[in-house]
Amino acid sequence: MQVPAPFDYVRATSVGNTLELLERHGPESRVVAGGHSLLPMMKLRLARPEWLIDINDVAELRHITEEPDRLRVGSLTRHAALLASDVVGRLFPIVHDAEKVIADPVVRNRGTIGGSLGQADPAEDLTTVCDVLRASVVIAGPGGERVVDMAEFHRGPYETACEQHELITEVRFPIRPRMGSAYEKVERRVGDWAVGAAGAAVQMADDGTIADAAIGLTALGLEGLATEVAAVLVGQRPSEDLITEAGRLAAAASSPVEDQRGPVDYKRHLADELTRRVLRRALDRVGATVPAA
Ligand SMILES: Cc1cc2nc3c(=O)[nH]c(=O)nc-3n(C[C@H](O)[C@H](O)[C@H](O)COP(=O)(O)OP(=O)(O)OC[C@H]3O[C@@H](n4cnc5c(N)ncnc54)[C@H](O)[C@@H]3O)c2cc1C
Repeated sequence: MQVPAPFDYVRATSVGNTLELLERHGPESRVVAGGHSLLPMMKLRLARPEWLIDINDVAELRHITEEPDRLRVGSLTRHAALLASDVVGRLFPIVHDAEKVIADPVVRNRGTIGGSLGQADPAEDLTTVCDVLRASVVIAGPGGERVVDMAEFHRGPYETACEQHELITEVRFPIRPRMGSAYEKVERRVGDWAVGAAGAAVQMADDGTIADAAIGLTALGLEGLATEVAAVLVGQRPSEDLITEAGRLAAAASSPVEDQRGPVDYKRHLADELTRRVLRRALDRVGATVPAA
């Protein structure tokens, strides 16, 4: 199937106008941002919206704004803009790690952070990144705006807290002192979706122990954070033994399924290995020393 079912099309001019259009055209209308997930779904007839509401002219959704305690990223910010942003790379190198391996430049030039989180594909990379950075998502609706954390936002594959008549307007990343982060993905070929990936964010205390840790996995059957991994890390001094234990627990927390990208054992191995690698790199980026085992 290569041709979408017939649909009507309208360009929104503002957040308020988008919400009006969603209300006017009803439950069979859908917002389109980069279109790199929605249009393939329409071509496969997995989605059949009657109206597409194009938000690409809504300038208020396109910003990267650093504030003292948070980074605000508009939902229409493209992958390419995140990758090009020095502020993003300085505060959250994990975002650059992930963006470098999301698809290819053609997709990155159009695809957006709001569309990625809104699509909630189980192999999508930015959900794990936002999970470990403890981001929150701003959702605008007819009754006003609400802010939900990632645990509340991401409800599972292809399901989020953003209702059909609502709009994701912004993603907010808390800026915390002494924090390091990293992401690593294994893909079958450059530009492909993940066979498996892991993300880590660590915050160090003044005494050299780990004050906070968040580990997430992509495409490896774990929804949200691996809390059992964080539990063994927090309060401890970094060491190779600790990292090994973290990898083991991440593999145990994963629940991968066999598919064309690989068997279960291999994917569990990835959960272990990639967790160890991203933890080491996140610790390194915050200047924490990890004594050899
Ligand atoms: C060949 C290819 C390879 C890819 N590889 C990867 C990969 O390796 N890793 C990865 O993470 N992604 C990958 N992607 C997906 C890519 O990152 C897309 O850009 C992303 O999934 C969707 O962003 P979009 O802006 O194109 O969203 P769209 O396709 O425009 O929208 C996707 C969904 O989100 C909704 N939506 C969009 N914006 C909003 C909003 N502001 N508020 C509420 N709902 C909204 C739409 O209604 C739709 O349901 C790939 C895509 C392609 C085509």
